[in-house]
Amino acid sequence: MGSEVRERTQRVIERCRSQGFAAAGIASIEPSHRQEAWRSWIGSGRQGEMTYLDRTLEVRLDPNQFLPGARAAVVVADAYVTRSLRFQRCESIAQDAGVLQGEAFGRIARYARGRDYHSVMTKRLHALSDALRAEHPNDSFRTFVDIHPVIERELAARAGLGWIGKHTLLIHPRIGSYLLLGGIMTTLELEPVAEGQRVIDHCGSCTRCIDACPTGCITPYSVDAQRCIAYLTIERRSRVPEELRANMHDWIFGCDVCQEVCPHNSLRAAARQDLPAANAAYAPLREGFDLLSVLGWREEDRAKAFRTTPLRRAPLDQFRRNAAYAAGNLLAGSFHPGLHTRLQAIAADPTEPELVRDAASWALRRASRDDAATAREP
Ligand code: SF4
Ligand code: SF4
Repeated sequence: MGSEVRERTQRVIERCRSQGFAAAGIASIEPSHRQEAWRSWIGSGRQGEMTYLDRTLEVRLDPNQFLPGARAAVVVADAYVTRSLRFQRCESIAQDAGVLQGEAFGRIARYARGRDYHSVMTKRLHALSDALRAEHPNDSFRTFVDIHPVIERELAARAGLGWIGKHTLLIHPRIGSYLLLGGIMTTLELEPVAEGQRVIDHCGSCTRCIDACPTGCITPYSVDAQRCIAYLTIERRSRVPEELRANMHDWIFGCDVCQEVCPHNSLRAAARQDLPAANAAYAPLREGFDLLSVLGWREEDRAKAFRTTPLRRAPLDQFRRNAAYAAGNLLAGSFHPGLHTRLQAIAADPTEPELVRDAASWALRRASRDDAATAREP
């Protein structure tokens, strides 16, 4: 690789840093090394209702189908959790539930608490790509974030940004896993990170994420999406199987448990002086929602509450369904008459969507089963 390419690569990385990305690297373009694993994952139906994964699998496995003639991918990462927020982890999920806060509170995953990362990242990636296109008009550039058919974490690992942990997320050795990934695929010649310079797997014998996952959906380096709370609350449009609802606890959009328990997101890791600051755009606007309010929402309430956030992906009925499951789990361990009354009204109202009525009925059954269990105690 000539010095011209090396210098150009360095300039591109510096530009990424000047755009505020916490990490950046160059990945070589090659088909996924895990093609068989991906095909078998899809073949066994673990993607659940995410049918777009089936439809776009071949493009995902071969970046050259995303951008014909691609020679490199500029991969970037935004950090979305500040040091101070990093340790608000739940020692016990029940303890962390809304009961302690005196209200019925449903939690959302950390990445969804601030502004929508799609627009925050895309805007800067477009600026980078426009600048590169102006300098190299004969080359092609195509930006990507998680809505595009690209396996960003594999490219990120190849670009030297980290390793893919047993929970299947990318872990940066200094920053941890609270990262959002994106990049630019290009036909421009850049110098990729050599295989020997990539970050090696530091999971070792650790199994914390596997042990802590509320639905037991992690096996080393694979997640059964059909049981993952992130999938169940965000991607799954239909009823959640009853046997999984209690394990969803108070999560109403996503789940952070496997990241909260990971030692690479630990206090010791965050105390490092050289930890890049989280992007200010992701400063949390909220940690969750009052369940009683959500259960009473209409479309305009949802639109107002979700404006400019990644929560927009959850349709109204689905979000109210999630709130009803969380309400049932909350009522199983605490007393909240207002919530109980709201669930009864929904369950008895034939004009309510079937999805929400079913969730409300289940929540009432869950609450009464627990009441009965409590009544039998000496
Ligand atoms: S997001 Fe939650 S449910 Fe999904 S794998 Fe991680 S811990 Fe398990
Ligand atoms: S919790 Fe342990 S096994 Fe899981 S990703 Fe983190 S280091 Fe790896």
